[in-house]
Amino acid sequence: MTQTSNGHVNGETPLVKGLHHVTAIASDPQANLDFYAKTLGLRFVKKTVNFDDPGTYHLYFGDAVGHPGTVMTFFPWLGMPRGEGGIGEVGVTQFAVPEGSLDFWKHRIDTSGGRVLTEGVGFGERHVLAEDPDGLTFALAERPTDGREPWLGADINADAAVRGFNGVTLTLADKTGTAELLTGLMGYDHIGTQGRLSRYRAPHAADAGIVDIIEDPAGRHAHQGAGRVHHVAFNVDDRAAQRELRDQLTAAGFNVTPVIDRNYFWAIYFRSPGGVLFEVSTNEPGFTVDETEEELGTHLKLPPQHERIRGKIESVLPAIALS
Ligand code: ZN
Repeated sequence: MTQTSNGHVNGETPLVKGLHHVTAIASDPQANLDFYAKTLGLRFVKKTVNFDDPGTYHLYFGDAVGHPGTVMTFFPWLGMPRGEGGIGEVGVTQFAVPEGSLDFWKHRIDTSGGRVLTEGVGFGERHVLAEDPDGLTFALAERPTDGREPWLGADINADAAVRGFNGVTLTLADKTGTAELLTGLMGYDHIGTQGRLSRYRAPHAADAGIVDIIEDPAGRHAHQGAGRVHHVAFNVDDRAAQRELRDQLTAAGFNVTPVIDRNYFWAIYFRSPGGVLFEVSTNEPGFTVDETEEELGTHLKLPPQHERIRGKIESVLPAIALS
């Protein structure tokens, strides 16, 4: 096989189709649930536990069924101190909202547990930059071409409701290695550079296709904690595509985990050159594998390996409820 300059093998469609999910750390599960399900109006699609630490919740928010590219997830460790922003992390999680909705959002965030930081324009998109209750920085970017159906379960109309991710912004000391990975094996196109900010886009992702990199050569390393992103997951169609990409990454020298069953998708993880933890996850099987679409998010769901200690898990998890 020959690789073209933009990483598309023999002109085939790239294996990566944009973002799958973003996972971050929070300090209070109820405050986290309130902010993402009520203030931002995402659907609470899954209440489960951190499979590697089952005494902690893993909360998933997204569109009606949690399609890849809409899914924001949290490990809320009660009392977790705030982390510190810096290089080697996803510094901004970008959500897509309709054109003309930013005034609505500024008011709603400032009066519902969050804080508006700035507003601006980047690569032709107007956006508001804001923080959640833990200080996680997110952007709401106007995206008039976004055709995704929003979840309308909160008191937010379709002319303002979040569509899903627009993309992520990585903060890196030096973009070189990560840019090579994105435009090489991951098949992203370089869209442009404005000062220290460079934009990349997955050419076959209708939505959630953006990766921005902001370079901060003198920056300090980020420290994990509440309000920081733990990892970003990219999306492949199925397990065959995941195996193929895993082989390519391994051949290129990346230290990639084995395929891990996350119940709702299969995942592999590796450290990207700029220090950000990348995951690549499958579309299959999705969040309706253990609850009906109507019931999503209403029961504590446990993977088979933790079901036998359900009683113990339920006794240590703090009670949370969608009011
Ligand atoms: Zn993940």
